[in-house]
Amino acid sequence: MENVNPDKLGQLTRQGLQATGHFFKPVLPYAVQASASAIGFSLGLGVCQAMGLVLRVSCGTPVAGPVMGMLGVGLSSAMAGQASLYSQQRLAAHPSGLLRLRAPSRPLMSRQDLLTDALVGIAAYKMLGGRFRAVLPSDLCKPGAFAHESLPTVGAGYAGETSRAELRRLMRRDGCHHCGWKRGQCIGDHIPPNKLAWAGNSQAERLANSLASAVNKARKTSKWTAVKQGAAAMQSVLSSAGASPRSAAGLQRFYPQCRKCSQLQAAAVRSNRTRLILHKGGPRSWYFAGVLVGLRHYYAIPGP
Ligand SMILES: [Zn+2]
Repeated sequence: MENVNPDKLGQLTRQGLQATGHFFKPVLPYAVQASASAIGFSLGLGVCQAMGLVLRVSCGTPVAGPVMGMLGVGLSSAMAGQASLYSQQRLAAHPSGLLRLRAPSRPLMSRQDLLTDALVGIAAYKMLGGRFRAVLPSDLCKPGAFAHESLPTVGAGYAGETSRAELRRLMRRDGCHHCGWKRGQCIGDHIPPNKLAWAGNSQAERLANSLASAVNKARKTSKWTAVKQGAAAMQSVLSSAGASPRSAAGLQRFYPQCRKCSQLQAAAVRSNRTRLILHKGGPRSWYFAGVLVGLRHYYAIPGP
């Protein structure tokens, strides 16, 4: 192999780095401001979720959930705008200014700009498919922050093979409906949980369990039509018996759930307590709303 002159190699490396630096120089402010706004937006959403935990408002809380979620997205968007502008100013002062961060002594923009950022962020979040209530913690006894689709249940029994395959697909796509985790074992979660849906109705529960079990077994046999007719007759008896199994079966749905959330839910139901959990759930398209707000300030003139 031919000997390489170390000086020549060093010179080539320096030239290469310079050329790369020139190439990326125009992109750097975009990258810095986009990153700063993404961090600001994520921090804002984290604060909003923690507030939900303290105030006991979950993604399943009617009215207060969506309203608080929308305010949280607005606040996070304003934070994203501030972070973007702050990084722009530090970068404009000196490239190394980013390494010597300190809190700004006064607001970086006017109240009107903050409000505009909040409104732009709310609109972008919604347009990218975000749901306001999903900003808040998940209640383990209600559909969680990542509950997009669900399947019908048949009584309190476990999900059949067809339902389990569909639930696995939903988990790969949306994650565990409570925490957003996409890997590991997928459990068919009854919502409302069996103990709550079938409370004070043990006879109906037993009958419906038998029905679910018979239906699941019969799907694979040649006697499917006969069993289906039998199941319909049994359902009619259950309804006329006044044990109200039909209402529980109609209300309950299967959602994909991870093992950890399943265990936490079981403990919460046993102790009859409302348990809210925090979630992060990985990157989702609507989180880019913060980046869009941040890039709005790329050409912005700093406020008073
Ligand atoms: Zn989970």
